[in-house]
Amino acid sequence: MARPIPRPRATSAVCIDLISAWCGPRRLIAPMPSRLPQARKLVKTPSTDSTVGKPAEAPEFARDVLDALRQPLEAGEVVVARSGVTTTFPARFTLVLAASPCPCARAAGPAQGCSCSPASRRRYLGHISGPLLDRVDVKIELEPVSRKELLSDRNFSESSRTVAQRVLQARERAARRLRGTPWRLNGEVPGSELRRTWPPAPGSLAVLERSLERGLITARGVVKIVRVAWTIADLVGRPRPAGDDCDAALGLWLGLRR
Ligand SMILES: [Zn+2]
Repeated sequence: MARPIPRPRATSAVCIDLISAWCGPRRLIAPMPSRLPQARKLVKTPSTDSTVGKPAEAPEFARDVLDALRQPLEAGEVVVARSGVTTTFPARFTLVLAASPCPCARAAGPAQGCSCSPASRRRYLGHISGPLLDRVDVKIELEPVSRKELLSDRNFSESSRTVAQRVLQARERAARRLRGTPWRLNGEVPGSELRRTWPPAPGSLAVLERSLERGLITARGVVKIVRVAWTIADLVGRPRPAGDDCDAALGLWLGLRR
């Protein structure tokens, strides 16, 4: 039997169903590319299936469709205006985007026969705009792995249970720190409160500040990086982010090759 959904999440799920029904044939989200059968399953009416989120490559979606995610990502709610009526629905979600380096996806491997032109690669990746990337906290470039590497990694990888336990402890640390406030997760704390009440250790933002001065990151990015630094500190049990935590969060935000 399916596990019951906690009440706030259940409310969000019901609202998504309502929006879908309310918008009728004119969906909130533009039609998916017709050559991606799995992408078309992303939006379904409640009557057919309430599942949302079949994976597809992010650049396969139109740029304006992806950019429409910026406002709900920022505000945690989506405002729908239709026929003179404006309604606000809760929309807190985790956005996970995946993209190959080129339309044929062969450029990821060594000498895999990619024939995409530089212009088509730029067009493809250009569907993910700078302002949208500015709202993505963690960017990771993955290298293709061989079967041998996959199998050898398995011997050293942690179990999901171990990782889940560490995440739970980190969340509990954040919740203890934020007790008595309207927030319970690092990602919910406004930038002004972070600066005033929970700044990282003195001197730990030096690299971050230099990156801001050089234009590598935006002011919005700084707030997001500090939030991630707090999560890294919570994961290792540090009372506040040190320089290493801030630098690691900056590396994740910039999407440095690892
Ligand atoms: Zn290619």
